[in-house]
Formats: sequence, structure tokens, C-alpha cells
Amino acid sequence: MIKRLFAKIFKTKNAKPEPIKAGGARPKHPQSSRPPLSTKKTTHRSNHAASTKGAVVIEHHAHKIDRNLLSSGAHRTIEGLQKAGFEAYIVGGAVRDLLLNRIPKDFDIATDATPEEVNRVFRRSRIIGRRFRLVHVLFGDETLEVSTFRGSHLEADGDSKVTDSGRIIRDNVFGSIVDDALRRDFTANALYYDPSSQQVLDFHQGYTDIKAGVLRMIGKPETRYAEDPVRMLRVVRLSAKLGLKIEPSTQAPIAKMADLLQDVPPSRLFDEMLKLFLSGHAIESVSALREQHLHHGLLPMLDVVLEQPMGERFVMLALKNTDDRVLSGKSANPSFLFATLLWHEMLAAWEIYKAEGHHLTPALHMAMNEVIATQAEKLAIHNRYTATMKEIWGLQPRFEQRAGKRPFGLLTHPRYRAAYDFLLLRCESGELPMEIGEWWTAFANAEGDTRAEMLQADTAPKKRRKRNRKKPGNTDVSAAKE
Ligand code: ATP
Ligand code: MG
Repeated sequence: MIKRLFAKIFKTKNAKPEPIKAGGARPKHPQSSRPPLSTKKTTHRSNHAASTKGAVVIEHHAHKIDRNLLSSGAHRTIEGLQKAGFEAYIVGGAVRDLLLNRIPKDFDIATDATPEEVNRVFRRSRIIGRRFRLVHVLFGDETLEVSTFRGSHLEADGDSKVTDSGRIIRDNVFGSIVDDALRRDFTANALYYDPSSQQVLDFHQGYTDIKAGVLRMIGKPETRYAEDPVRMLRVVRLSAKLGLKIEPSTQAPIAKMADLLQDVPPSRLFDEMLKLFLSGHAIESVSALREQHLHHGLLPMLDVVLEQPMGERFVMLALKNTDDRVLSGKSANPSFLFATLLWHEMLAAWEIYKAEGHHLTPALHMAMNEVIATQAEKLAIHNRYTATMKEIWGLQPRFEQRAGKRPFGLLTHPRYRAAYDFLLLRCESGELPMEIGEWWTAFANAEGDTRAEMLQADTAPKKRRKRNRKKPGNTDVSAAKE
């Protein structure tokens, strides 16, 4: 099984790639008679000339993108594809970010090669995805996402499906770069950068919009939101993250179309909300979503944030804390974030179980299980996050035990750091005295002897140990010591 998986991922391919059938499955392709890969006769230049038709070409002296800012994987993927005779560009968020003088978090690549063709060019690559087939190309630790130019979902051929409300649920149709640009959401996201020629191809005045600080939907906003309601969340998230103004006609339909979000599968909403919370601009995004009326039953995850009178301060602090971490380049753990979102609900359930007469720890476990069971499904929180959430919650009562050996044990727990950060938020939000958090900070930083001096008097009732009944002649040392 493992062997097969390895073989699949690190497939050794024939040195000579298979020839591509002329005019294969892509009738709309500008180069319908591309020669076989192995001949490499079609230079990248001739492809490029065909693509620039209909595009405004922005030269390096104008856009000034420093191609050294591209990752080595991005360079190598583009080079590999172009050498094999295909068109290849950096596309989407990375070009937009480079033009805004931001460091892109990843580099997506668009090409006229089909997934199979891309797969044949790179030894370490694999085809993934069902909704739209993509190729992951691996260079060292880096994974580059390579997508084939997408065509119009209205085309009769290809694998495309649209619901009655206009929502696209499958759109595996290939097309030209012109079609591909038209399918993207915002003008700022539809720019194609070729690091070889250092030209940016712009089909929808995205360059002008970026320079003017505007986020504008390509095409008719109503139609584009109906096709994919998640675009309503994307516009809010990207404008908050990038400091771009939403162009008025892009913004106008959102309030009246917000209900369409109800049809979106929860797992997609979850992915988008996670991006929003981990964007480094969660606080701005949350208030923008509220302003656009994109909550109240539409986004369960957002309702949890906005509709908790008890925990609002705590959740806002958590989001602020996450923003600070992300902006300073630190990692932010989604489980930690979900643990904060549901903490006050968990506390309330815990109180109820305790009031019913259950002991502290069993009551805590019952409350954790109940909140996870009711909320994880509603919010589409995956199992891989819930185990860590429970660990962070489960360790909280242990911070209140500051005597004996217990604090030492807690310091060595693998989740100590996350649980400690969580404790600090509880203190900052006023739920616990600040003194507890300060004590743990000092305790963790102290040396051995000082630590021992910091411990509080052990007032907890001693556990009764079973005494070994002394038999005549029993010389058990531990029993003798007691
Ligand atoms: P981020 O910096 O947050 O990753 P992004 O714009 O790169 O923002 P991705 O989700 O990585 O967002 O998408 C990459 C590109 O794919 C976008 O720039 C856009 O061109 C296109 N895209 C993504 N989602 C959609 C969508 N729902 N509709 C149309 N185009 C989309
Ligand atoms: Mg991106």
C-alpha cells in the first residue's frame, strides 16, 4: 500500500514524454497543432504571441515586479512547462500581491497544458481534485498548484453542471487564457505574469484597479455571485486583507443575495471562514461581514463569534491575538481558534453538569463532548481539529493547581504551550485573575529551585493509599516510610 502510494507520488517517468495528439480534447485551444513534447520545437515565444491577443501587456519598467521574489519552485515549474512548449504564468493572488508590494503566500500557476501533460513534464507531480482537476508539482518542501486554463461552463463539451439558481457545481472545462481570465472573480485576480518575458497580461483592467486600490468583480456581479455565492465572502475577505475598496456595483448586490450562502456546502464555507480567520485581518473581516449583513444564520462560524454576550470579549481578544501572530509571521493553529470560539459555550455546559451533581472532571468531559457533538457538525469542524480542542480545554483546570508535583507535570505536556496561551486569553478577558497567568509565566521561566519555592501549599486532600497489611516479617520499605 505504502509502496504504491510512493510510486504514485514519485512516479519515475520515461525520459521521453509521450507525444501529444494534435488538436486533442481542447477544441478551443489557440495552438491546436502543438508538436509533440519531445521535439520542443514550439518555442514559448510563439505561444506567448497568441496569448497576448486581447490583453493589455504591462512591461517590466511599468509594473516593476522583482522576479527574484518568486519561489524557486515557481521558477522551475514555469521553466519546465515553457521548455516543453507550453504557456505558463504565475496567476491570481500572487501577481496581485506582488503588485501591491506584498510577499505572496504561495504561487499558483496557469498553463495551456492539460493535467496529464503537466504530470508528464514533472517527475514529482500528481493530479488532484474532483471539482476541478489540478496538478500538484513538488520541488523540495514546496508544492505548486498548476491549473489548466479553464473554459466557459456554458460550453456543451467538457464536464460542467449548473443548478437552477445559477450555481456552478462542477466545471471541468478547459479553454484558452482569455476564457480563463473571464472565469476569475476579481479584475485584480485575473493578471498573468510571465517571469521569462517579465510581462504582465491584463485582460480586465486589473492593473489599473490595483493601482487605484479597487476590488471589482469581472462581469455582472449578480450573475457571478449566483454562480458561486462564496465570492461574497471572498470580496469581503480580500478587501479587508489588502485594504482595497469594494467597487460600488460589486458591493451593491451582496445584501440582497446573501441568502444564497445557505446553499453552499458547509465544508466550503468552513474553508473560506478559516481563510478569513487566519488572514491576519480577522477583526476587520468580521466587522465587514457584519456590515454587509453576511451573518445571522448564514455563516454559523460568524454567528458563534458575534452572538455570545458572555464570551464576546474573549473571542475578540482571541481573533486579535491570531491576527497579531499571523502578521508577525508566526503560525496560527485552527484548533486553538475553534477552541476559543466555543469556549464559553463549553463553560456553560460544564456549569450545568456540575450543578447536576457531577464531579469536576467527568462534568468537563461531558460538556466537551456535548459541545463538540452539537457544534462540530454545524460549523463543519473536522475531527482532526476537535481532538486538539479537547486537549486545550481539558488542560485548563490543571492551571489552577499550583501545589505539589502537578505544575511540573503540566509543563511537560505536549499541549502545554497552546493551553498556556489559552489561559492567558482567559485572564486577559477577565474570566480569571491576571495573577494566575503571571504565575505560570514566571513558573515556566524559573530555574529548578526557584520553581520549587513558587509552589503553593498543598491543601488538596491527600489521596488515601492502601496500606499493605503488615504480615509478620514484612520488610516493605515504602510501607515503612509512610
Ligand atoms: P489568497 O491570497 O487569500 O490566497 P487568492 O485570490 O489567491 O487569495 P485563492 O483561493 O488562492 O485566492 O485563489 C486563487 C485564484 O483563483 C484567485 O486569485 C482567483 O483568480 C481564482 N479564484 C479563486 N476562487 C474563485 C472563485 N470562487 N471564483 C472565481 N475565481 C476564483
Ligand atoms: Mg492564493
